[in-house]
Amino acid sequence: MDQAKAQERVNELRDRLETYGYHYYVLDDPIVPDAEYDEKLSELLELEQQFPDLQTADSPTVRIGGEPLDAFVKVQHSIPMMSLGNAFHEQDLRDFDRRARQGAGKELDYVCELKIDGLAVSLTYENGRFVRGATRGDGTTGEDITNNLKTVGSIPLRLQEAVDIEVRGEVFMPERSFERLNEAKEQNGEAVFANPRNAAAGSLRQLDPKIAANRNLDIFTYAIAGDGGMNIDTHYKAVQYMKKLGFKTNPNSRRCRDIEEVIEFVNGWVEHRNSLPYEIDGIVVKVNSLEQQDELGFTAKSPRWAVAYKFPAEEKVTRLRDIILSVGRTGAVTPTAVLDAVQVAGTTVQRASLHNEDLIREKDIKIGDQVVVKKAGDIIPEIVRVLDDLRDGTEEEFSMPSTCPACGSELVHLEEEVALRCINPQCPAQIQEGLIHFVSRDAMDIDGLGEKVIQQLFSHNLVTGIADLYKLEREELLKLERMGEKSVQNLLDAVEASKANSLEKLVFGLGIRFVGAKAARTLAEEFRTMDNLRGTDTENLLAVNEIGDKMAEAVVRYFDMPEVNELVDELQHLGLNMEYTGPAKEEVSGNSQLSGKTIVLTGTMEQLTRNEAKEKIEALGGKVTGSVSRSTDIVVAGEDAGSKQSKAEELGVDIWDEAAFLREIDS
Ligand code: NAD
Repeated sequence: MDQAKAQERVNELRDRLETYGYHYYVLDDPIVPDAEYDEKLSELLELEQQFPDLQTADSPTVRIGGEPLDAFVKVQHSIPMMSLGNAFHEQDLRDFDRRARQGAGKELDYVCELKIDGLAVSLTYENGRFVRGATRGDGTTGEDITNNLKTVGSIPLRLQEAVDIEVRGEVFMPERSFERLNEAKEQNGEAVFANPRNAAAGSLRQLDPKIAANRNLDIFTYAIAGDGGMNIDTHYKAVQYMKKLGFKTNPNSRRCRDIEEVIEFVNGWVEHRNSLPYEIDGIVVKVNSLEQQDELGFTAKSPRWAVAYKFPAEEKVTRLRDIILSVGRTGAVTPTAVLDAVQVAGTTVQRASLHNEDLIREKDIKIGDQVVVKKAGDIIPEIVRVLDDLRDGTEEEFSMPSTCPACGSELVHLEEEVALRCINPQCPAQIQEGLIHFVSRDAMDIDGLGEKVIQQLFSHNLVTGIADLYKLEREELLKLERMGEKSVQNLLDAVEASKANSLEKLVFGLGIRFVGAKAARTLAEEFRTMDNLRGTDTENLLAVNEIGDKMAEAVVRYFDMPEVNELVDELQHLGLNMEYTGPAKEEVSGNSQLSGKTIVLTGTMEQLTRNEAKEKIEALGGKVTGSVSRSTDIVVAGEDAGSKQSKAEELGVDIWDEAAFLREIDS
């Protein structure tokens, strides 16, 4: 390639990368997969190395991140927040090792850490108190997001020592929270987030901290900025020290004596990357000695003492057999691709949501196409693109119907939504989805009334709305397929028991728009009774922390409907509890970090017996259980903690050592 041709290609690549980067960093809404961005960046890097005259100071190969948004107060980073060099193959890791040993002496050891796929933040503490949090921005100037970061429960507001320190970490959204958020968004006809990283970034870069507070964000901190004046000589010790101060650090790091051990660690995680409850996109390899880090220094964009190994994105080709439609609880009609079964990132994929008609047009998807499938953020199956070269002319164009596939009513676009909606309140598909929601775990939690049974009851006309669930009769149920004496009795008992549920479960179960399980609890705690809640107005709702405009309006509009009031009256008449019976607010948010938490004790503690620890926890309002699950908040691990600790690590549950536990109960 001659210089002129290279210049042309370089310009083209820069243009594209800038556009991709703007969508990714500034709008938190990428338009191409990461692998495509990385490929173009590598090509540009190669051309710039081959033709050094073409290098510019503002090329995407030397620029970090994106411009901070004007809406935020800007923060100048005292120590720049850098990017990381990439490694895609084993050989790249060996090259990194060779360069590092040339630059800093033969004897090197490394620390390998999971590369958490979230948003980099810096957290500043003065005198042990959290005073400021910022995004990376362009590396030198970030955005002040202190108030949003304060809503992240795992960021300590006060440290165990009264030090001045700045740490760096990655805020992320656990997979389950991401799935729930997108489900809710889909139901509300809003655009979904492409992956947990963008969801985390989009949640933190909001002006209203209430949004971040509802998004269940988490953090792993991974570095102290500068040496912090702490007299620490290795990165590994720095992380241990952060942990001691009260920061949440990732338990899966490993010290490696040489690059062979690094490669072994990396390969292990290539296989197990999907086993965590949060997203990782690679492994960060760091030179352990801080003195050697100093010797190696930085390039314009990244440290020479670290490299990020990037996992390959798993993509598969399969055939799209059909496009089917489903009607959600709120009437949103969603097209879904039916695919020939294919294994992607650890699971079989047979369906992929196509979200809306615009997306089908944008990607030019036809029935019968061969398509490339991946899991967005490695969780949700997504059609990346169509292989249109492989078309043989038999593929069929798809168009959305103008009427509801379930009830035949005209479909409409509400306000500026992309989703098409059925607005017929009697639509059977919506009623059925509403019932499935009503009996679900976070709502009325009626055991034995799963999706299948609801469908059965519905198709036999035994249930046409929520109130009917409380009028079910034994004789009629016994006539249904697969319903014996025992299952009928269990079902009736569960329905009966649900009547005593505290108010928040009913409020959530009703399916008021924008009111999730957490908001339902807040409403129930504040208003105490259903009558108070349905009699309130927007002003009173807005006075409640965590309730925003949209939700307040939706609640008022919901309880303004005569049919809703009839339903509530009927449910009351049928014996459902209409009061909040949970713990009083003060009790839940007591001073101790253990209050209201579910805690598992494992291993042996030096200073306390298991029973003494249990008593202390209970006295502080916590609950001790025997086994670790997703609902565990904290695992206190003494010496020789075994499988419970590993399980907790796997599930991303907070793990405290004995010292941290003692500090908490003593305080
Ligand atoms: P990077 O993500 O490759 O690496 C740097 C970041 O890694 C740090 O800022 C930090 O946030 C994070 N990190 C996570 N765990 C860490 C740990 N244990 N130690 C240190 N850092 C850790 O670099 P980048 O400059 O932030 O962005 C490049 C990435 O963004 C690439 O993956 C690229 O594919 C993606 N990208 C995608 C698009 C797109 O359009 N899809 C556009 C731009 C960038």
